[in-house]
Amino acid sequence: MTMSDAGATKNPRIAIIGAGLTGLLTAHGLKKAGFTVTLYDAETSLDARPRDWTIVLHWALPTFKKLLPAHIVDNLPRAICNPHLDFTPEVECLPAINGKTGGPLFTSPMPGSRRVARQRLRKVLAEGVDVQWGKRLVSMEAGAEKDGPVVLGFEDGCTVEAEYVLGTDGPGSKVRDLLFGGREEGKVRPSGYMFGTVIVKHGDAEKVKAVVKAHPVATVLMGTESVGGIGVMYVDDPEDKSTWTTFWVKIWKRGVFPDPPASQGKEALEYLKETTTNLVEPFQSQVDWTPVDGDAVCFIDEMKTWEPVSPLESRSGRVALAGDAAHPMLVYRGQGFQHAVLDADNYVDSLIKIRDGGEAKEAVFAAYNEEMVERGAKAVVQSLREAELSMDLESVNKMLMVRQGHGKST
Ligand SMILES: Cc1cc2nc3c(=O)[nH]c(=O)nc-3n(C[C@H](O)[C@H](O)[C@H](O)COP(=O)(O)OP(=O)(O)OC[C@H]3O[C@@H](n4cnc5c(N)ncnc54)[C@H](O)[C@@H]3O)c2cc1C
Repeated sequence: MTMSDAGATKNPRIAIIGAGLTGLLTAHGLKKAGFTVTLYDAETSLDARPRDWTIVLHWALPTFKKLLPAHIVDNLPRAICNPHLDFTPEVECLPAINGKTGGPLFTSPMPGSRRVARQRLRKVLAEGVDVQWGKRLVSMEAGAEKDGPVVLGFEDGCTVEAEYVLGTDGPGSKVRDLLFGGREEGKVRPSGYMFGTVIVKHGDAEKVKAVVKAHPVATVLMGTESVGGIGVMYVDDPEDKSTWTTFWVKIWKRGVFPDPPASQGKEALEYLKETTTNLVEPFQSQVDWTPVDGDAVCFIDEMKTWEPVSPLESRSGRVALAGDAAHPMLVYRGQGFQHAVLDADNYVDSLIKIRDGGEAKEAVFAAYNEEMVERGAKAVVQSLREAELSMDLESVNKMLMVRQGHGKST
C-alpha cells in the first residue's frame, strides 16, 4: 500500500451531504458494509419540506433492496402508494392515453415495479442512520495533501472533517458547485419544461374510482401540449375509497402557457386549473373536481438538468457525487432515482475496494466517475428528448417509453 492509500484506513470518516433518498440509501449500504457514516442535511427536520410526489421503483429495485438491512426492506410497504394491490402484470405497468382521442396509446410494462410516495419512503429510509439536520453546507476545503481530510463548513459556523465526502444534495448541489469552483459549467440548468403536481383528498369514493378505473396505480396522457398524469397517492382504508388521496400532474413546455404567478399554494393551483381546460377524460374531471379552497396541495416548478462531464473532479478520490446532484434529469421514464440507486451501489463498492482490496482511492473514484458520467449523461439527454417527443401525437411513437418501455436508459 502506498502513502496515497491512507484512505484505506479500516474506519474512514464518511460524510454524506444531503439526506434525500440517495443519501439515505447510500448510508444504509455503507453501514451494511461495516462503515460509519454521518449525513448532513440543510432541512431542519425530516418533515420540513412539504412537497411530495410519487416515484416508480422498477429496474433498480433488486439493487435498492440489496443495499438495505432486512428490517428496512420489511418496512417498504409503508411507502407504497397502494400496498394492498394484487401485483399482477396488469398492475405493474403504466398505460398511456391518447391526449386527442382519449383512447389507449400504449402501455409500458414494468414487471416487479412499485410506485412509492417520496416522503413516506424517506421516512422509512431515515430509520437507523445518523442524520444531522439543519446543516447547510457552504464550504469544502480539500487540502493539497492527498491523504488529508476534507474540511466541510456549514452555515451555522460548525466545521466537520471527513476522509470521504459524498454529495447527494440534489439538483442544485452545493458539493458540485464547490467542486467546480462556482463556475457556470457546474450549475444546474432550466430544462424549458414545467411540472405541476396536485395532491388531493376528494373525500368522495366516486372521484377516486374514476382514477382507479383508468389504472389502479397511475395513468398518463400524451400527444398534446399538456402531458398529464393521474394516480393513487395514499390509501388510508383500502375498503373505503373516500379515504384515499390521489394526485394529478401536468407537464408543459415553458412558453405554451403564461408563466405561473406562484410556485405553490392556492395561487399556483388556481393557475393550473385556469390553464388546464381541455384534457380528455378522466384527466379533466380530476382537475375540475379539485377545489381551490380545499386542502389540495399544489407545487409548480421548471424541471432542471445537468449533464455530468468527464473527467469529473474528485479531489484525489475524496469527493464524489450521486443521485440528482450528479445527474438531475426530467421525470420521463422514471429514471432519476433508478440511476441514484446504481450510484449508491457503486459508491459502496468503491469504498470496499479501497478498504478491503487496498486499491488506490484516486483510481477507484476515477473509475466511479467515468461509469457514472457516461450512464448519467445519457439518461439526462434521453429524458430531455422524451419530453420533446411526448407533446405531439406525430412524435410519441419515437419515444423510448414506447419503444423500450421504462427499461434502463443505456
Ligand atoms: C415529480 C417527480 C417525479 C419523479 N418520478 C420518478 C420516478 O418515477 N422514478 C425515478 O427513478 N425517479 C423519479 N424522480 C426523481 C427522484 O425523485 C430523485 O431522483 C430522487 O428523489 C433522488 O433525489 P436525491 O436524494 O438525489 O435528491 P433530493 O431529494 O433533492 O435530496 C437532496 C437533499 O439534499 C439537501 N441539501 C440540499 N442542499 C444542501 C446543502 N447545501 N447542504 C446540506 N444539505 C443540502 C436537501 O435538503 C435534500 O434533503 C421524480 C422526481 C420528481 C420531482
